[in-house]
Amino acid sequence: MFRIVERQRVNPEVNRFVIEASIIAQKRQPGQFVVFRLHEKGERIPITIADADAQAGTITVYVQELGKTTFQMGRMNAGDEIADVIGPLGNPTPIEKLDGEVFAIAGGVGSAEVLPIARKHKEAGNKVIAILGYRSKDIVILEEEFRSFADEVYVTTDDGTYGREGFVTTELKDHLEKGRPIAEIIAVGPAIMMKAVCDLTRHYNIKTMVSLNSIMIDATGMCGVCRVEVGGETRYACVHGPEFDGHKVNFDLLLKRLASFKEEEKISLERYQAAVGAQDA
Ligand code: NAD
Repeated sequence: MFRIVERQRVNPEVNRFVIEASIIAQKRQPGQFVVFRLHEKGERIPITIADADAQAGTITVYVQELGKTTFQMGRMNAGDEIADVIGPLGNPTPIEKLDGEVFAIAGGVGSAEVLPIARKHKEAGNKVIAILGYRSKDIVILEEEFRSFADEVYVTTDDGTYGREGFVTTELKDHLEKGRPIAEIIAVGPAIMMKAVCDLTRHYNIKTMVSLNSIMIDATGMCGVCRVEVGGETRYACVHGPEFDGHKVNFDLLLKRLASFKEEEKISLERYQAAVGAQDA
């Protein structure tokens, strides 16, 4: 069992959890993820590791309440235990000193995944520019954390309630047009955002890495559910990724596969919410 040490609601739809998982905390590297199973009969959910404290033996994750299991997790508290936490999984982000700037582009809760990658780029001696996009002011997370180390931070909101009005791509486009010396871009967020970033950077021939959030089950390369098409070949996001060269990803196929169980996910969440009652929802 894995004990929750802290739970903090960071915005109306996202919780930050600090969880005891000492071996994972010692081994994890930026870009890697864990798979949770809340209880013996629970589904497996992949979540990116946002931070870890090797000495305390804890990992930190940000979980957006999207479906039944993440909603259920959002109702767990410090002291509660998670049945399984498997990891660290996936390949760490390759990070080295680059000849040029690194742009870290984050969409919504994807900022929790980009944070450790951007920080490590800074530690490697790279100039880091962060572009963080959220739907609205009330769900902005991790801005201060990025500001604590990044050379420049730009925030956008879709509705213009905070920062610049528009998508992350509105901000990125300006930097591309100015001809900034960008060595690499890492973009993490909704698939549609990663596709839009890649469509933009392709014209400038700038290396753009994306972290793919395909549906996953076993996360060890056996089930094949997380398959994605990269450069015309089938790849498994769990063992070959989760990061890939975004210019080679078939995003249309990924978007289609991500939508496969939307209706079932909605029904499952509604049934669960009805069962636990309105006071817990
Ligand atoms: P969201 O829908 O609120 O979008 C966040 C931002 O992405 C927007 O504010 C905007 O700036 C940008 N964006 C959205 N649509 C765009 C478009 N068409 N063109 C350009 N930019 C666009 O995001 P959310 O609700 O916080 O969801 C985050 C997503 O990130 C989830 O789908 C989650 O699965 C994914 N995620 C992925 C990983 C990963 O490892 N790949 C990790 C964490 C989260």
